[in-house]
Amino acid sequence: MIIRVDLVLARENAIAAIDIIKRRLKEDRVPDVPDEIGEKKKRPREVAFMDVNLCFPCGKCPEFCPVQCIEYLAPDTLAGRGIQPVQDRFQECIGCYICVEVCSLLTDYDAIRMYEVDLVEQLLGVTITDRKPDGYIPAQPYEEYFSEGGAHSVRHLGKGSRIREKMNAEERAILEQERKRAQ
Ligand code: SF4
Ligand code: SF4
Repeated sequence: MIIRVDLVLARENAIAAIDIIKRRLKEDRVPDVPDEIGEKKKRPREVAFMDVNLCFPCGKCPEFCPVQCIEYLAPDTLAGRGIQPVQDRFQECIGCYICVEVCSLLTDYDAIRMYEVDLVEQLLGVTITDRKPDGYIPAQPYEEYFSEGGAHSVRHLGKGSRIREKMNAEERAILEQERKRAQ
């Protein structure tokens, strides 16, 4: 019974934390922060990439991505890693910043950055459209571009948390509680 109560409280705190993040992002005029699971409807201005070397795969960002486009890399993709880190299928990303804030505010890793779509298209030789691809395209690590120290790293051009400095004391306390709980 006690365990069930703990689980309910933990879930409530997680929901409170993600609600704070969504509300602050909307106030910050970040487009496309949907309230429910959805699908890409327009070409985003930015898309997310994880620094796979910084990601200690806590599993939080996949849980909260509103289009569910974050996945664990396939087994043995990166040598020497037991559980593989996560990366998003960028062609499906809607640029909502939720994963950036989750990783920055609810973990110790700050592994995710947002990149201008034009830059990503240039780097990867792809076209990012207003719809998700028809077929499943698995996520790739893209370590050389989006990880610190990668051979062609552009991580310094990526954007991190937009809302960290805007939190009030009460919000900080809820996020901190959630960060500790997730450790
Ligand atoms: S929240 Fe950060 S550390 Fe956790 S799985 Fe996502 S990228 Fe990795
Ligand atoms: S910004 Fe992050 S959470 Fe939002 S759709 Fe892209 S990968 Fe998912």
